[in-house]
Amino acid sequence: MKYIFGPVSSKRLGQSLGVDLLPPKSCSWNCVYCQLGNTKTFITERHEFFPREEIFEEIKEAVAANTSLDWITFVGSGETMLYKGIGWLIGEVKKLTTTPVAVITNGSFLYLPEAREELLQADAVLPSLNAGSETLHLQIDRPAAGLTFRQHVEGLVAFRSEYKGRLWIEVMLLGGINDSDEALYDLTAVLKEINPDMVHLVLPTRPAPEQKVHIPSEERIEQAIKILSTVTTVVHPVKGTMDLRSAPDMLHAITAIISRHPIQQRELQKAIADCFPGENDKVSQVMQDMLATGRFKLVEHEGEPYWVIKE
Ligand code: SF4
Repeated sequence: MKYIFGPVSSKRLGQSLGVDLLPPKSCSWNCVYCQLGNTKTFITERHEFFPREEIFEEIKEAVAANTSLDWITFVGSGETMLYKGIGWLIGEVKKLTTTPVAVITNGSFLYLPEAREELLQADAVLPSLNAGSETLHLQIDRPAAGLTFRQHVEGLVAFRSEYKGRLWIEVMLLGGINDSDEALYDLTAVLKEINPDMVHLVLPTRPAPEQKVHIPSEERIEQAIKILSTVTTVVHPVKGTMDLRSAPDMLHAITAIISRHPIQQRELQKAIADCFPGENDKVSQVMQDMLATGRFKLVEHEGEPYWVIKE
């Protein structure tokens, strides 16, 4: 298949079927952490790079072959919203299946009303916001000429006011670059303007084109979660796979994690199940033990159950 990849197991989206609408690498930014390498030539004009019907045929085939998908995700070789016609594809997928549709985007085209319009039918949109100032935006995202920080923020604010689905802002936290208190408070101010449903904090765990890209220290990650949580729920879903197998005291280990950030129920279930292969009742037993401590509660957010510490 030319446009479909996966399903891949993503910590944010479960079993996710990827749809890539772009020739590699097509982007309006040149992020220092980009896992696709440097952007050689910026693209800032939206096109229908490949025939939409051809892409939809592949989606139909893949959906028929994969019956247990959690999401169909438009993401791929650059900036997804460069594909003009994504709205038509989302609409067709919604007619085809009840599997929810997510779009991962840098958000740089949301200042365009026609781009925002194309996303309205998506169930979740995950745009990037890595900086709360023009200076850091230029340093981290390195956008094409003409794409300003203010335009980016205003696009996100406008989209929020029009969009009824789940707006999950993705913040890439980079050690020594945007993890200072000052940078995080700047980010908080911008997030307040946007009012997202959630922030997904992500780390540069994959090879980056620039040497200066580092995973922040535990202390800075915790501080980022603390500061950004003053605006909205912060989930930290891609800090490696949760592995409890070597924990001498499972409940203690779980408490240590949940004290720092909420954990998605299914992520926790998997981590516990991995510790007790073949013992099917262990997962519910551990969760009963957790509830019995009185320290945790289950909350539902945007249709997903999360374990959190009681206030
Ligand atoms: S927006 Fe995404 S694809 Fe584009 S340079 Fe940044 S990380 Fe890479």
